Amino acid sequence: MTISRVTVLGATGSIGTSTLDVLGRHPDRYRVHALTAHRSREALLAQCRRHHPAVAVLDAEEDAAWLRGQLAEAGLATEVLAGSQALVEVAEAPEVDCVMAAIVGAAGLLPTLAAVKAGKRVLLANKETLVTSGALFMEAVARHGATLLPIDSEHNAIYQCLPVEHRGGLGRHGVRQLLLTASGGPFRGWSREALAEVTPNQACAHPNWSMGRKISVDSATLMNKGLELIEACWLFDARPEQIQVVVHPQSVIHSMAAYSDGSVIAQLGNPDMRTPIAYGLAWPERIDAGVEALDLFQVARLDFEPADEAAFPCLRLAREAMAAGGTAPAVLNAANEVAVEAFLAGRLGFTEIGELVARVRDARPVVPAKDLETILEADVLARRAAHAWLVRQ
Ligand code: NAD
Ligand code: MG
Repeated sequence: MTISRVTVLGATGSIGTSTLDVLGRHPDRYRVHALTAHRSREALLAQCRRHHPAVAVLDAEEDAAWLRGQLAEAGLATEVLAGSQALVEVAEAPEVDCVMAAIVGAAGLLPTLAAVKAGKRVLLANKETLVTSGALFMEAVARHGATLLPIDSEHNAIYQCLPVEHRGGLGRHGVRQLLLTASGGPFRGWSREALAEVTPNQACAHPNWSMGRKISVDSATLMNKGLELIEACWLFDARPEQIQVVVHPQSVIHSMAAYSDGSVIAQLGNPDMRTPIAYGLAWPERIDAGVEALDLFQVARLDFEPADEAAFPCLRLAREAMAAGGTAPAVLNAANEVAVEAFLAGRLGFTEIGELVARVRDARPVVPAKDLETILEADVLARRAAHAWLVRQ
């Protein structure tokens, strides 16, 4: 069997550690080329000891120097680099076959794009890449012959429910609608008044999934589902109105495709990100992911309800941003990142997240997203507008 060499961007995060768990089960198939982290140097050191990557990357030179010292003491030959250019290098390195894009936020954009331009197999967990630069990104995938496999569980599910060749519009393949499932988050059924009092720890305690803090808050506001709607439009060539959000509190069905003949195909499984990760790594084959078999008798029932967009306006804001096009989704994403950070720091109330996003949206013009510079500028200016509003509070 040929060995596939993998770079894990964002190795110390929730998706990163799940990826290493799956890779560690298949030493005959995979080698780790590079592992990257932002600041978590201790966690990265432990991963280097276990997986022996050729390269490790941290953001700050000071942390990199510390890691170099520790690795030398342990007698490990891993090369340690620092800074954002190093992320690009380990994503496009000629010896790499596959890149897991699991950095959180807009910081993941450039290294992920570099992996695409180098024609790699790209396992896309970072949703901000598609949300901010979907058109450019999908164009680059086609132009450079990269293999793009969605890791976000809903998109991975839809990918599994669609024909192998699904580009060129859903209608061409007899798909009527994509049904994007949502757990509803920890506050499903709550009123807007009750939501105003929510604390960061409450928001981060997701009923079904264990995830990083940013995406946990996004799940609680339903912005995550909004970002996923935008993601699905780009991945599957769908229009926003072809995607229906279905609240399904058990998180057993991970999403569905509805066909014109009345068939609905769903992908089911325990809520464990190692399933989509293993799917992406091994596609078109299947490998053990360490995930327990789904026990349908234990699940017993599957419930479905519409999303409450009055209590959770972020979903609507995202749909509107996708319909507006151009830089609107990048502005939405940037404002949301600032708002979530402020909420986690105790500077913004839970229901003010959507309010801040709406204010920034109203303050920023929408322009065509013609190149990366335009998108990055829209991102910076939206962040600035969001910070300015926060300071005034
Ligand atoms: P996380 O916060 O647990 O981990 C983020 C990783 O990125 C860490 O390794 C961190 O060191 C690194 N990182 C953070 N900021 C960085 C920066 N500025 N520069 C370089 N590296 C940086 O996040 P996560 O939950 O693993 O999510 C990762 C991505 O996957 C997100 O975009 C998220 O939306 C997406 N995603 C996550 C899940 C999930 O179940 N956790 C599911 C679907 C999609
Ligand atoms: Mg998801």
